[in-house]
Amino acid sequence: MAATRQVPFFNYPHVYCSDEQQLLETFADVGRRGAFIQQQDLEVFEHRLAEYVGAKYVLGIANATDALHLALRAVGISAGDEVIFSSHTMVATAAAVHYAGGTPVPVDCREDHLIDPVAVEAAITPRTKAIMPTQLNGRTADMDALQAIADKHGLQIVEDSAQALGSKFKGRSAGTFGKAGCISFYPAKTLGCLGDGGCVFTNDDEMLRKLLMLRDHGRDETGVVQMWGLNSRLDNLQAAILNVKLDSYDQAIARRREIAALYQQQLGDLPQLALPPAPDSHPDHFDIFQNYEIAADRRDELQAHLKGKGVGTLLPWGGKAVHQFSALGFTQKLPFTDRLFERVLMLPMNTSLSDQDVVYVCDCVRSFYAVGSLAGAA
Ligand SMILES: *Cc1c(COP(=O)(O)O)cnc(C)c1O
Repeated sequence: MAATRQVPFFNYPHVYCSDEQQLLETFADVGRRGAFIQQQDLEVFEHRLAEYVGAKYVLGIANATDALHLALRAVGISAGDEVIFSSHTMVATAAAVHYAGGTPVPVDCREDHLIDPVAVEAAITPRTKAIMPTQLNGRTADMDALQAIADKHGLQIVEDSAQALGSKFKGRSAGTFGKAGCISFYPAKTLGCLGDGGCVFTNDDEMLRKLLMLRDHGRDETGVVQMWGLNSRLDNLQAAILNVKLDSYDQAIARRREIAALYQQQLGDLPQLALPPAPDSHPDHFDIFQNYEIAADRRDELQAHLKGKGVGTLLPWGGKAVHQFSALGFTQKLPFTDRLFERVLMLPMNTSLSDQDVVYVCDCVRSFYAVGSLAGAA
């Protein structure tokens, strides 16, 4: 083994320090203009991002949880309407349905950890109104299969693409398939700002009209209140920060894909692990690796071993799928997800990692299973 190093799961100061000079200039510029709420930087960011993903409209929202909630309201979800989602997601996905007045219906995921279209179809009832796939870990679900189900049963699709900015299925960006798609700019997300932030994508003029009012107290462009709304705007300062971050976003994604390829090369031979699909392993998928989520034998022991070696890991969502939080009262039985959650573990995946960090993490994993280093660093 190489000497111990510290590899934290996520390096929060890096979000600021990696662009410090430019960010300081941005703070000064925005501050001196007094441009805080719904100003030019937000508009510029929305237009740039729309072009980047090929969406007709992008609307900055305070965070992705609100973005999902408002998108569901704009779609018309109301009391008694069921919305199907994968239980392997953040509780925010289900909370958005709850606060829109609907009933969240969790279903199983499949081998790639994304929503299982077979489980979706099995969960449809006369009250089902929408499917909300989570484009988990930076990979986009099989949207052909989900669209076919939605068309057959007359359902809407609203994507939780919080983890998938720039991820593609058959060349089309996550968040642009359904009526709306939502992105998070939480600091640890692939495009992170210095606080909370999110947005909605939509190609639908009527959705745009409603969302513009929903995020701003229900007011139209003349200031007249047309409906009940919320205060859920993306801060102009965060938008200005995101304009800085967007300049190097393609490089950030390229680096994440390199790290994923290195994990694959260093760990791909271990039968004790199931790794995510490697970059470019399937022509339909372009993955951006928000997370590197593996499934591992003796997961808890492996996590403790890595901790002892200075390697930070996380259990997704604190170790529970949404239907497993007993306080929320779900009654669904999801055997695949239950089994998966005994094995899932997220290894460090972020742009502050060096190749040496990644090889060190892999050597620590290999030493746990008592197999030699591939890097010859033993
Ligand atoms: C991060 C995340 C959210 C919530 O995003 P916020 O911007 O923090 O509200 C929702 N869904 C998924 C899948 C996420 O990863």
